[in-house]
Amino acid sequence: MTLYRAQVVDTPDDPFRGGALRCDGDAGLLVEDGRIVERDAFATLRSRHPEAQLVELSDGVLLPGLVDAHVHFPQVRVIGALGMPLLEWLERCALPEEARIAEIDYARVVAGEFVSALTSAGTTTALVFGSHFAPAVDALFQAAAGHGLRITSGLVVGDRMLRPELHTSAERSYDEGRELARRWHGVGRSRYAVTPRFALSCSDELLASCGELHRDVVGSWFTSHLNENLDEVATVRRLSGTTNYLDCYDRHGLVGRQSVFAHNVHSTDTELTRLAEAQASVAHCPTSNAALGSGMFPLNRHLAHGVLVALGCDVGAGTGFSLLKEGLQTYLLQRLRGADGVPLTAAHLLHMATAAGAQALGLRDQIGDLSAGRRFDAIWIRPRPGTVLEIGIRHSNGPEDALAKVFALATADDLGQVWIDGAPVRAKAIDARTLRPRPVGNLTIFAANKAAQRTDSDERTRHRSRAGTDGGMSR
Ligand SMILES: [Zn+2]
Repeated sequence: MTLYRAQVVDTPDDPFRGGALRCDGDAGLLVEDGRIVERDAFATLRSRHPEAQLVELSDGVLLPGLVDAHVHFPQVRVIGALGMPLLEWLERCALPEEARIAEIDYARVVAGEFVSALTSAGTTTALVFGSHFAPAVDALFQAAAGHGLRITSGLVVGDRMLRPELHTSAERSYDEGRELARRWHGVGRSRYAVTPRFALSCSDELLASCGELHRDVVGSWFTSHLNENLDEVATVRRLSGTTNYLDCYDRHGLVGRQSVFAHNVHSTDTELTRLAEAQASVAHCPTSNAALGSGMFPLNRHLAHGVLVALGCDVGAGTGFSLLKEGLQTYLLQRLRGADGVPLTAAHLLHMATAAGAQALGLRDQIGDLSAGRRFDAIWIRPRPGTVLEIGIRHSNGPEDALAKVFALATADDLGQVWIDGAPVRAKAIDARTLRPRPVGNLTIFAANKAAQRTDSDERTRHRSRAGTDGGMSR
């Protein structure tokens, strides 16, 4: 048994329904076999379990592991292409890279990069758009299992309006998906998700086969894109002959409690009503929406209809893997919506990045907060002394103010450690990086950054220090 002593902040109760941020300044979490078996004041828990191995997370704050509800495995290397709307970006940037991943050696390398990037950003659970190629999806599941990542993913399918090499057939789509599910669904922390790219690139026949696969693979998840971009929406409406984009999926039994739709920026009330009725979820991807100029997400209408909204980074249209950055961007976009914007606090952002994602993925009984009974999926935010974040936290007016500074300022460099099921994973992710200098043009870039050099000290059990006592998270 391991006893973690930390300042713990989480959102067991939904702030959108009146729940408050939970902050325990000196909490103890007793972890056994990856599960939090007891949570209490540290002193109480220590006296009850003097034999437990003690890990003191002396400064900073412990948060639940982040849950990414929408991210694309093959797009690691196309992040940052600016200046294009969705359909042009797909054609010029994303789909050529997605075609390259047909080569299995290439796919394995990118899978390693992808999983390392997720865990290094503090993401411990993800709903991942896989690849159009079954061997690449297999490589992704292997990489995720190697890092311990909690992953739900599947074969991406389409049979029109993509590059020809990305097209499949209804029969092949079913067969390959079924085989991948047989290999990975329910194995370790992996689950299968039926994943048509979007209704624009899928015939009705292909979506019917997706519905069949979703029914046949018991407990499978379903994910796709919905109402992201106005040109996309207009084309889907023209091709399907309906103004109800969601119905393209719904008519095949693909809208339910185990469905997560990315974006939904341009949704009708009819669709929102149906999403709520079906208890389907939406993954909001704000940096992607801004980068592609897709639109300003109507969070108010989703909340009014009772639709669950989680967060996704949507790499590679999104601008990175950090869900903390997506939280900040969610806040900023809602501010820009003026009277239609939802005023968000740091508690809302944390909830969207953790518990809401867990709920969207049907994992809320296991993860999403750090209560007793949950798996120990956690991230330790521990900025180095003297950084703007550390100074901000030290001078903050309390835990919620300090958490807001985390959303405003924290990067992967500020993560001291990441645990999934009680096992540290961040060090492993960093070790996978090459330390050799890599020439880029006239520059020499070292792949390992300062965070990698800090890894050794991160691994050691640290003595408690009282670096700052101004009432913030730092102690
Ligand atoms: Zn996407």
